[in-house]
Amino acid sequence: MKCFRCQNQDPRLFTFDQGVYYCRKCIMFSRIDANTPIKKVTLTRKKISIQPHLKYELTPKQKEASTKVCQFLQEGKDVFLYACTGAGKTEITLESICLYLSQGKKVGFAISRRQVVLEIKERLQKIFPSLQIVAVTQGYTDIWDGDLIVCTMHQLYRYPYAFDLLIMDEVDAFPYIGNDVLKEIANGSCIGQKLFLSATPDESLLKNVEIVTLFQRPHGHPLLIPKVICLPIFLQFIVLLYYLKKWKNKQSLIFVPTIQDTYTLHFLLSFFISNKAIHSQITQKDKIIEEFHQKKFQCLISTTLLERGITIPNVCVLVFKGNHSVFNVSSLIQIFGRVGRSFLDPIGKGVILCDTQNESIKNCIRQLKQMNVNA
Ligand SMILES: [Zn+2]
Repeated sequence: MKCFRCQNQDPRLFTFDQGVYYCRKCIMFSRIDANTPIKKVTLTRKKISIQPHLKYELTPKQKEASTKVCQFLQEGKDVFLYACTGAGKTEITLESICLYLSQGKKVGFAISRRQVVLEIKERLQKIFPSLQIVAVTQGYTDIWDGDLIVCTMHQLYRYPYAFDLLIMDEVDAFPYIGNDVLKEIANGSCIGQKLFLSATPDESLLKNVEIVTLFQRPHGHPLLIPKVICLPIFLQFIVLLYYLKKWKNKQSLIFVPTIQDTYTLHFLLSFFISNKAIHSQITQKDKIIEEFHQKKFQCLISTTLLERGITIPNVCVLVFKGNHSVFNVSSLIQIFGRVGRSFLDPIGKGVILCDTQNESIKNCIRQLKQMNVNA
């Protein structure tokens, strides 16, 4: 017995119902009966000739990376673009997107997190104003075919055998990493080449692919190496307050390990500084992020929810209780990747507050320094 969607062959994961067995391993997407081939989805295909509208030209290093990616894809190879945070990963994919669209091929852009789907859709729409770009994620599933499809990894189940080029961003992140079902669904949706993007891949992701690296941000400045301050928890709060006062002319993102911490810190900081808290269980996430973009309050307290994808110009970043186990190396690298992305403030400011410096913090600093050396 086999499920043709998630490739499950474990008899314990099939259930007998109404005369047939169905797969329980991928039932959260929809019911698939055992040994039943998956039908190819029908999507519009037309040749589209477009050029990206960018405010700035790509830097020589970005151009070089973009050309390499395109060459490997044309040779029929899957590619991993290993680029530091803020290097302009999305921009590097544009040449490939244009190439596939000009040949009448279908392109999908899949991302782990919903917020980032909406952000990337907006960015791509500005770059390709004439293109019909659809964002497909929770709350946005009515229209799911367009010239270019941007979706969460989860939504790929709608697209069996659909994409000639499947771009997958943040493949080292939850929920994609370590999730066999999502991986098989992604494989099943791609009939051509895959282009993986990440700033923090682990070794297993770099196997059987061509690797293209880019460790220089467009402004050419090195990545921020955060300042690490070891203190007992009470003093961490005092120092946090000191920095927020010192950086009062800028906005700050504060990362905390747990949902409870977002509430505690929100309560305590409210006596001193305008702030809001955000985490996965808050329903009005988009609204809070939009208000932060509009500078309606100084400081946003978040769990690791916002560690990736979010770009706020000139934002300072603080990590509170930095030696908590939720902050692993890639998480910390992503968090400090929020800093120094703007040409006006290319270096930025970032602090880790912790009881003790653990391996994750040490490795984060080591890897950031290494990327600066290789830039
Ligand atoms: Zn299945």
